[in-house]
Amino acid sequence: MAGYATVVLDINVDRAFDYRIPEPLAGAVRPGVRVVVPFRSRRMVGYVVAVGEGEPRAGARPIASVRDETPIIGERLLSLAGWMASYYGCPLPTAIAAILPAGIRRGAGAKMPLFVRLRRDRLDGLGPPDGLRARAPAQARILDRLLEGEGPAEASVLLRRAGAAHAALRSLERKGAVELRRARVWRDPWEGAPPPAAAPHLPTTPEQERALARLREEVRAGRFSVTLLHGVTGSGKTEVYLQAIAAALAAGRGAIVLVPEISLTPQTVGRFRERFGRGVAVLHSRLSAGERFVEWERMRAREARIAVGARSAVFAPIPDLGLIVVDEEHERSYKQEDAPRYHARDAAITRGSLEGAAVLLGSATPSVESYWNAAAGRYALFRLPRRIDDRPMPRVAIVDMQEEGRRTGRTTFFSRRLLGAMEERLGRGEQVILFLNRRGFSPLMLCRRCGWVEKCPHCSVSLTSHGAGETLICHLCGFSRGAPARCPSCGSPNLRFPGLGTQKLEAMVSRLFPERRVGRMDTDAMTGRHAHAETLGAFGRGEIQILLGTQMIAKGLHFPNVTLVGVICADTALHLPDFRASEYTFQILTQVAGRAGRGERAGEVIIQTYAPGHPAILAARDGDDELFYRREIGFREELGYPPLKRLVLVTVKGRNGEAVKWIARHCAREFAGALPPAVDVLGPAPSPVQKVRGRYRWQIVLKGEAVPPMTAAVGAVLGRLRPGGDVQFAVDADPVSML
Ligand code: ADP
Ligand code: ZN
Ligand code: ZN
Repeated sequence: MAGYATVVLDINVDRAFDYRIPEPLAGAVRPGVRVVVPFRSRRMVGYVVAVGEGEPRAGARPIASVRDETPIIGERLLSLAGWMASYYGCPLPTAIAAILPAGIRRGAGAKMPLFVRLRRDRLDGLGPPDGLRARAPAQARILDRLLEGEGPAEASVLLRRAGAAHAALRSLERKGAVELRRARVWRDPWEGAPPPAAAPHLPTTPEQERALARLREEVRAGRFSVTLLHGVTGSGKTEVYLQAIAAALAAGRGAIVLVPEISLTPQTVGRFRERFGRGVAVLHSRLSAGERFVEWERMRAREARIAVGARSAVFAPIPDLGLIVVDEEHERSYKQEDAPRYHARDAAITRGSLEGAAVLLGSATPSVESYWNAAAGRYALFRLPRRIDDRPMPRVAIVDMQEEGRRTGRTTFFSRRLLGAMEERLGRGEQVILFLNRRGFSPLMLCRRCGWVEKCPHCSVSLTSHGAGETLICHLCGFSRGAPARCPSCGSPNLRFPGLGTQKLEAMVSRLFPERRVGRMDTDAMTGRHAHAETLGAFGRGEIQILLGTQMIAKGLHFPNVTLVGVICADTALHLPDFRASEYTFQILTQVAGRAGRGERAGEVIIQTYAPGHPAILAARDGDDELFYRREIGFREELGYPPLKRLVLVTVKGRNGEAVKWIARHCAREFAGALPPAVDVLGPAPSPVQKVRGRYRWQIVLKGEAVPPMTAAVGAVLGRLRPGGDVQFAVDADPVSML
C-alpha cells in the first residue's frame, strides 16, 4: 500500500477528497503536483495538497495518473493558498487559481517555445542578397527581420512579422544561416529597452544604513520579520530596497518587489534592471500568457532571482525566498476586488512568515494599519525624514476656493494664485504638474431648466460626460451612449456639463496657455501599451511643459524640472461615505506634493480646496504625519474602526431588490446567531452605491477583534443558504472600500 493523497479538484467545491496512491505512482505523487482522478462518472484534474501514509479512507478510489514531474505549486505557496481560503473565506481552488494563473496552468504541460538565432558568420554562404531576394523572398524577409533585431527571436512572432511560413525557416536552417532551438530564452517584455549593465550601489546615508543593517541581518539569518520604512518621497527608499535585495542575493536567496500596478512604469522597472540586469523577472497585467509563462519558468529555474510586479507577484515562484518588498504599502490597489479578495501586503506578510523571509514595507504615507502596528512594536520602524542631499520639501500653500469665489465674484476652477504661479514657473522654463482625481470631461449632464441629471440605466450613479460633452459613460459598468440634444425629462435644449474632469481641464489649460504643450495621463488617455512611456518621455525631455492627470501621475514620477504642482480640487475623496476618506486624502495630497522640487530648484505646491480647515489637508500642508496618524487612530478607536477593530463586509446582490433586501435581513439574523456577542453585526443597509450593473446591493458589516472567526461563521451561514434566483454574496475581509 503506497498511502493516500488529499486532492483539491479544480472545481468550485470547497472540499478536498482522499484518493488511493497506486503502487506504480508512489514516488510521483507529491504535494503540489496535479493528478488526474475519477470523480463521480468523470475524470478530473486536481492538486495534491497532502500525502499520507497507511490506509486511505474506506472506498477511496485510485489516482489515475500524474500530470507534473515537478510540483507546479510549491509546498509553501500551497500553505499560502490555504491561508487565503480560510482568512478571506473563499474556496481553496479559487485561492490556488489566484496563485497559478490559467496561462501558467495550461503552459506548464506545454512545449517550450521555439527560438531562432541568426548565424551572422554563415550569411556569406547564401550568395549575394539580391539573388536570395529573387529566388526565395520569404527567406530574405526572415533574414531582414533577424538582422534588425538584437538577439534570438521567438519563431512564431518572427514568422508573423516576416509574413513567412515555417518551411522557409527550415530551409534557412538547412543552409546553416539560422539555428533553431526550443528554449526558455529570455524575452524582454519592455521591447526595445537597451540591454542593461549592472550599475553600482550608491554609498548609503546614515539613515539608509540603519535600516539596511537590520535587513541584512534578518536576511542572512533567514528570519521572518516585518520592517516599515517610512520615508518622505525622494528620501532614498528605493535605494534601500535595491541594497536589501543585493543582501538577499548574496545570501543565496531571492526577492520579490511589489509595486502598485499604476507605478509599474518603465522608469521603476528600469531602476531594478539597471542594478540586477537579467536577474529581474517583470510581472505586469499586460503580459501575454506566453510572456508570463516565460517569466515564470525563468524564476523556477533560478535564472531570475528577483520578481518585480504588481499585486499578484506576491505569488511569484521564487525558490528560497529571502525578502519581500512592498513599495507604497498603503496603496488601495493591493487589495483584489474579486475573490479571493486578498490584500497583497497582508499576503506578503503571511508568505514571509511561511518562508522565513524578511518583509519590507515602504511608504511616504503608511496605511494607518501599518503605522499602528509599528507603533505597537510589531514591526521595526525606520524613518527617512529628509530628502537625499537635503533638498528642501516643497512649500505647500492652501487656497480656499470659497473665499476665491467671493473675492472674484464668480466660481472658478483656477485660483489667481495658481494661475500666477504657473505663468511664473513656465516663463522660467520650468515644468508644472496639475492633479485632478476625476477623469472624463464633466461628472454629470445637468438640465438647466428642470435640474434633470442623466443616470446610468444599470447603476445608481450619474453618467460622466466624455469628449466635449459628446458621450456619456458610466464609470462603474462602462455603459455609454451619445449625449442627448434635449433634456430627456422636459425637452429643454439647455443642457450643461458642470464640474470638472481631466478632459475639460486639458481643454481649459490649452486655452489658458496656448503656447505650451499639455499632456494628459488618465486611464482614457493611456490605452496603448507604450502610451505611458511616450507621454512620460516627452515630459522628461521637456517637449511637454504641463502634465495633468489623475492619481496616475501622483506616484513614483521623478522629474527634476517640475517645480510646481497644482492640486485642482483636493476634496474629491473627502466626503465619500467611507471611514478611510481622510486617510486617502492625506495620502494622495502628500504623494502628489512629493512630485515637486525633485531637482536643484525648490518646489511649490498649491492645493485648491473648499475645506481649507480639514485636518487631512492641513496635515498634508504641514507634512505633520505624527499629528495626522495620532488623531486618526484616536477617531478609529472611538468609533471602533480598523485597525483597532476588524471588519468583514458582506454584500448581497441581485436583480430583484426586494429579494436582496429580504435575504440580507435573513443573513444578518443568522450571523448574529452564529457569532459571539462581542462581534457587532451592523445592518443590513443599502450599499452606498445601491445598484451596479443592474444588481441591487445591500450590505452587512461585521465588526470584531479578529477576522478568521468572522469569516468562518459567515462561510458556515452562507454555505447553508441556498438563495433562489440570481442572488449572490460577496465576502470581503479587511475591506479597503466600503462603497
Ligand atoms: P524614494 O524611493 O524614497 O522616493 P529614491 O530612492 O527614488 O527615493 O531616491 C531619490 C533620489 O535620490 C534618486 O535619484 C536616487 O538615485 C537618489 N539617492 C538615493 N539614495 C542615495 C544615496 N545614498 N546617495 C546619493 N543619491 C541617492
Ligand atoms: Zn430638463
Ligand atoms: Zn453603469
